[in-house]
Amino acid sequence: MDILSQDIMYLPGVGPNRKTLLSNELGINTYRDLLECFPYKYVDRTKVYLISELTPDMPFVQIKGHIVSFEEIDTGKRRKRIIGHFTDGHGICDLVWFNGGQYIYKSYAVGKEFVVFGKPTVYGGRFQFSHPDMDDASQLQLNDMGMQPFYSTTEKMKKAGMTSRAMERLTKTLLSKLNEPLQETLPDFITSRLHLISRDAALRKIHYPKSVDDTQRARLRLKFEELFYIQLNILRYASDHRRKYRGYDFRHVGAQFNWFYTHNLPFELTGAQKRVMHEIRNDMGSGRQMNRLLQGDVGSGKTLVALMSMLIAIDNGFQACLMAPTEILAEQHLQTVKDFLKGMNVRVELLTGVVKGKRRREVLDGLVDGSVNILVGTHAVIEDKVQFSRLGLAVVDEQHRFGVAQRAKLWAKSENPPHVLVMTATPIPRTLAMTIYGDLDVSIIDELPPGRKPIETIHRYDKQTTSLYAGIRKQIQLGRQVYIVFPLIKESEKMDLKNLEDGFETLKEAFPEFRLSKIHGKMKDKEKEAEMEKFVRGETQMLVATTVIEVGVNVPNASVMVILDAQRFGLSQLHQLRGRVGRGAEQSYCILVTGYELAKETRKRIDIMCQTNDGFEIAEADLKLRGPGDLEGTQQSGVAFDLKIADIARDGQLVQMAREEAQKIVNDDPTCSKSAYSLLWTRLKELRKTNINWAAIS
Ligand code: ADP
Ligand code: MG
Repeated sequence: MDILSQDIMYLPGVGPNRKTLLSNELGINTYRDLLECFPYKYVDRTKVYLISELTPDMPFVQIKGHIVSFEEIDTGKRRKRIIGHFTDGHGICDLVWFNGGQYIYKSYAVGKEFVVFGKPTVYGGRFQFSHPDMDDASQLQLNDMGMQPFYSTTEKMKKAGMTSRAMERLTKTLLSKLNEPLQETLPDFITSRLHLISRDAALRKIHYPKSVDDTQRARLRLKFEELFYIQLNILRYASDHRRKYRGYDFRHVGAQFNWFYTHNLPFELTGAQKRVMHEIRNDMGSGRQMNRLLQGDVGSGKTLVALMSMLIAIDNGFQACLMAPTEILAEQHLQTVKDFLKGMNVRVELLTGVVKGKRRREVLDGLVDGSVNILVGTHAVIEDKVQFSRLGLAVVDEQHRFGVAQRAKLWAKSENPPHVLVMTATPIPRTLAMTIYGDLDVSIIDELPPGRKPIETIHRYDKQTTSLYAGIRKQIQLGRQVYIVFPLIKESEKMDLKNLEDGFETLKEAFPEFRLSKIHGKMKDKEKEAEMEKFVRGETQMLVATTVIEVGVNVPNASVMVILDAQRFGLSQLHQLRGRVGRGAEQSYCILVTGYELAKETRKRIDIMCQTNDGFEIAEADLKLRGPGDLEGTQQSGVAFDLKIADIARDGQLVQMAREEAQKIVNDDPTCSKSAYSLLWTRLKELRKTNINWAAIS
């Protein structure tokens, strides 16, 4: 048996109890799992600082000296804090143990020399280290330690003594048992051309580096490998798919499209819309199936692009459908499409949960006999019962709730898979799109229709209600409408609701002259829709809601978006919410309300929002601040993110490199049969077997 498949229990220092812990907490079951559990950072332990050199912004550092005396402070029932006053001859600092016990006096005798390792903080005008890592200086060869790796561990593990240091010991034991070089997983032609170190060297250096250079080379190699196999998987799948399914050829642009373009189009297309239409036409006329992601900020005119694409499908004798995530949105789309197509002989129908009985049968029949040209609807459209005569194009608005599995369902609706256009207003940075939607081509509308006034974003503290209310009142008196959003905490819906109810009452008292609507997650869909309708029709002037405000709802008369406790929202959420206003000709405002005390990151988010309206800039910033795992849309996209070492936000260039290498190989060996690449195809199969997320994308 391959030694790496060995049960982790048999590694000296593990045993059954620790095995359970490792398995439950970190998913480590074998030697291999431990080997692939990488440190998240390193600390240079060759350097010893003087206490006089410390600054509060330093990360983990080490100092060397001895404890002069101890001090005990009672902090409640049988609890005490123990403080050791520590000196290195150049200064004094405090070592602090909360809930300290007698063992501290025994372990860290006064006068004995120790190397103390920890993060310095300032308390009461003095540097202190709480719960420092202490080593007997006479036992420790500092120069031998080199770079110390840090491993993530959980609270449970720490309680059982499984600290980062313990993990470090385990990986070192494991490496010492691996006498044979570890198997290489990248072919020579890649490693040598890209100057990557071997897998064996990389895995050893990543756990046991001697220098910063070691850590960098090891990380580079392992990151590349990780990204490369993801790209190889995606591209191989895409190429397979392309060979298997022919796409409908919509080369023809005919009567409906031309009529619309010359007679019904009420305005000039923006340059970006023209470019994107061009890309879509090329795609649909290429003979292969289109899988295209259309990204464009809220209000950039994606619907029109969708409509024109659908007309091309109709001109080629096919049907098209347009899917929205909610009923309200579907109805709005229906209205938009009908308005645009006024006077034209195109049958447009709606299919949602509320279309029932006779009406529903008529629509379904019309789909089967081909008399319905465009179907607008919700997810009801992809139900098995819905059959088309010839579905040629499916447009999906807002990709969030539309993963790969749903896309696959569409393919069953016609002989060949229909062309698919997925539209989203949550821009995804390019490197991320390449990874999540590796099989999708991407089009971008990066230009708003002319005449839009950029939304003005303002930050207000929650004490400034007088000026906030005055601003709201002024806008409503000008005839506009206002959204007020309360944050939603998933963990405590009750509190949210209370928060919202209280807020609603306060607002009602503050604005007795206006009518207010209220929407929250606990309401029935029917009630929600009715309340929403009132606002859409202008019967109420203020909509007070938790974040359930339907994505994409279009109320051009709403010109103010107030977001309370804005610090609780992520950047893309804030941007999405802001996109609800600025849809009319009037100057619109987004007001972010927060408390006075803000964490550094939060302040950054608010600043970014106030500085830019550009969704792409915001998405990039969001990715950098939060990491890709939390990014909206990634969870539902079909490929969850649990990269072991690469970081899509920071490693954009590597993603690009990995993609290019993988593309070359797929182009050169589309049937996976060349022996020169057999190492790669075998490895890919292995990875697909063990990695659930990967399996999900095909
Ligand atoms: P998105 O779906 O991208 O958020 P929409 O398609 O709803 O944006 O477009 C927003 C508004 O802009 C709509 O009222 C639409 O009619 C209008 N619009 C679209 N394209 C143009 C254009 N080229 N010039 C002027 N207005 C446009
Ligand atoms: Mg839209």
